[in-house]
Amino acid sequence: MSGSLPAIVIPLQLAEKGARLRGRLPLKAMRRLAAMCRDDTERVAVDLRFERGAARDLYEMTGNLSACVRVRCQRCLEEMELELRAEPRLVLLRAGEDPAAFSPEMETLIADQPVALSDLVEDELLLALPMFTAHAAGACPGAGRAVGVPRADTARDGVRTRPKPFAVLDGLKRGDK
Ligand SMILES: [Zn+2]
Repeated sequence: MSGSLPAIVIPLQLAEKGARLRGRLPLKAMRRLAAMCRDDTERVAVDLRFERGAARDLYEMTGNLSACVRVRCQRCLEEMELELRAEPRLVLLRAGEDPAAFSPEMETLIADQPVALSDLVEDELLLALPMFTAHAAGACPGAGRAVGVPRADTARDGVRTRPKPFAVLDGLKRGDK
């Protein structure tokens, strides 16, 4: 399946044909996303449908994108695996068509020009990227450090020196040596 995806697409043309693109793209080709990941050798699974929508003369791109990337946990700073998923649903427009003519909740894309498929996919995955990437609370080696601190962001605030119960314990242990 790999390698079957076209590098450049014209989404509206694909939608007129009712095309479906399935395959994998290298993360390495998505520079902005790869820059946030610890390992750019991963691949992104792509399954996109380009088709006429429910309304007449309305073309859509829908589908699923997923990638398992390695990022840094922002709580403990250890490397972690992040399952990145996006389910894009875009209305495809011709240049000059007014996005405001569509209901505001529908995302639109000017789609009558050639575009790199990896750029299209990357944009959707970047939107799906959480603002704060961290292990689940129970699985984070750094979660204990936040005990007793009411808000997670105060734990990352280097300016404040709120005493933490575990820091006190650490001090005691060091004193025992
Ligand atoms: Zn963590």
